[in-house]
Amino acid sequence: MAKFPCERTLDQFEFNAQPALDPKQFRELALARWVANGDALLMLAPPGVGKTHLAIALGREVIRCGYSTLFSTAASLLTRHSVGHKKGRLEEELAYFSKPKLLIIDELGYLPFEPDAAHLFFQLICRRYEKGSVMITGNRPIGEWNVVFGDSVMATAILDRLLHHSHVVAIKGESYRLREKKRAGIFQSKMKREN
Ligand code: ADP
Ligand code: MG
Repeated sequence: MAKFPCERTLDQFEFNAQPALDPKQFRELALARWVANGDALLMLAPPGVGKTHLAIALGREVIRCGYSTLFSTAASLLTRHSVGHKKGRLEEELAYFSKPKLLIIDELGYLPFEPDAAHLFFQLICRRYEKGSVMITGNRPIGEWNVVFGDSVMATAILDRLLHHSHVVAIKGESYRLREKKRAGIFQSKMKREN
């Protein structure tokens, strides 16, 4: 029911590969107290450092603690709201995404928002505000969200609500995908060829 794209667990996550992350913080987050409190969790990092992995893994733990959870990519969530809006079904979409106690929005910021999207996203965040939790993963620091949303007034209003009760995990670190390739010598040889 959570619509996870694949199976990932905290046990599978190599914290040694990402020294900037504190495993203790994740064990604490896995207890889902932040969800009980209706807090937001923002995980911001460049591609490949394990955001989606950790989002799914934490989502599974939250479900284990008894809370309903729904996973969606930002792109799919925004498309559904925008199509719903055009077809007079916005209310249905807002209700669908407001129902679970935890909504996980993965990959915010990879695609720029369409002109109407920031306003629709704002409506969703308002609807959920102080009722349920949101976890957002993204590749852009909060300071660039006005660019992501294409609307600085909306960005401020959204951040005002999200950051009111929130935990922010900012991961600096290198891509696990590229790290594996570098280890296998694939990435380096490709770079050399390109040079
Ligand atoms: P992101 O969402 O930040 O782009 P992903 O979570 O999709 O990154 O990670 C890319 C792939 O690498 C996934 O298959 C994920 O399971 C794996 N991965 C990333 N970081 C780690 C890690 N520290 N330990 C184990 N697997 C990892
Ligand atoms: Mg991802």
